[in-house]
Amino acid sequence: MMTMRKQIAAANWKMNLTQPEVKALLDQLLTEPISLQSHEEVVLAVPFLYLEQVRQRIESLNGYRLAAQNCHQKTAGAFTGEVSAAMLASMGIKDCVIGHSERREYQAESDAQLAEKVDRCLEVGIRPIFCCGESLSVRESGKQNEFVGAQVRAGLFHLSAESISGIVIAYEPIWAIGTGKTASSAQAQEMHAAIRAVLTAHYGKEVAEQIPILYGGSVKASNAAELFGCTDVDGGLVGGASLNATEFRQIIAALK
Ligand code: PEP
Repeated sequence: MMTMRKQIAAANWKMNLTQPEVKALLDQLLTEPISLQSHEEVVLAVPFLYLEQVRQRIESLNGYRLAAQNCHQKTAGAFTGEVSAAMLASMGIKDCVIGHSERREYQAESDAQLAEKVDRCLEVGIRPIFCCGESLSVRESGKQNEFVGAQVRAGLFHLSAESISGIVIAYEPIWAIGTGKTASSAQAQEMHAAIRAVLTAHYGKEVAEQIPILYGGSVKASNAAELFGCTDVDGGLVGGASLNATEFRQIIAALK
């Protein structure tokens, strides 16, 4: 029998919160933490500066994990201002967001670069949370499944079946990020099933069924349960609503 896929509530703080605000949010979130079942996880993807502070607060909590929001694609060297996957691993960081649409857009991160970042993470035991998603114009052209399928292939299909089993995918339609517009649960389920079909075609059902696929794009307390209730939606990657402890706690509670 297959074990249940991980169900994950991941917070993406992006470039928000000052140090005292981080402390206040962690107090609200973790003083009485929501206890998780064995198939549930909470991931906090926080700015590099706060990783150690958050690590200390969650290290004794079952199922709570810490993520960086990015790492560099090279192992080490003359890349001023950058942070390597090996550095993150040496600080006890377990996860790293790779290829968020804001980085694809503003830092012009290419598929080839993202494939390298995935490799750097896996080499040091960090689980990549690999982001994909289409723009509004692609959605309006009706080509979203092909577009997202191509992103998944380009970023991940160089991996062995064993390696890809250790990653998480986050589908985030760009038109729904930070806009207040959420994909309907039917749109989310359709795309998640399409991504899983792409994985199944290449790696087989057993592998594809084990890979968590998160939805991201204006997830809130009020829509999380419906989205997470979809068969192929295994939780969410949450931006704005993760900065509010009350909202995010309700999102955690909505995991299936
Ligand atoms: C995100 O940045 O990953 C995201 C989904 O943001 P928001 O929840 O604010 O739309």
